[in-house]
Amino acid sequence: MDKKVALFPGSFDPFTKGHEDIVLRSLHLFDEVVIGIGHNANKQRYFPLEKMVAHISDTFRDHPNVRIKTYDDLTASVAQSLGARFLLRGLRNTTDFEYENGISQVNRYLSQHLETVFLITSPQFAPISSTIIRDVHRYGGNVNEFLPYRL
Ligand code: ADP
Repeated sequence: MDKKVALFPGSFDPFTKGHEDIVLRSLHLFDEVVIGIGHNANKQRYFPLEKMVAHISDTFRDHPNVRIKTYDDLTASVAQSLGARFLLRGLRNTTDFEYENGISQVNRYLSQHLETVFLITSPQFAPISSTIIRDVHRYGGNVNEFLPYRL
């Protein structure tokens, strides 16, 4: 049987406990999960890419079947180059659904056999978003509670 590889694409600026939960739960479904950090070379991230890669590596140090890839490309092309037949995404609410519905249709149009698998957030992580964490951090608030590592 083919190895089941999933690509979990996102900005992960920063990677949160909500993201960690999606990855850990998905390991029951897939043989390997690749966390794909999409970064646009022309766009400034809030948390530097290299530091986020180090934090995520540390978070999954005991999970050899979780890998990290940074990319500046079409997600569908990256999945293909990795041999990933699945995209993994998380859903918190109907706003996420509207957005995810659109991108998953487009990704399947771009790559016919690419299926997006959605996991519904665990309730304790539902309020966590990278955007809110950036805003709290920008004004000096402590965000460690929302992250699986220490900043
Ligand atoms: P993007 O910039 O592509 O929206 P994010 O890094 O914000 O990517 O999120 C990546 C994926 O993780 C998305 O599918 C998003 O809906 C999901 N996600 C974000 N926060 C949570 C959370 N707290 N619980 C579950 N899924 C989440």
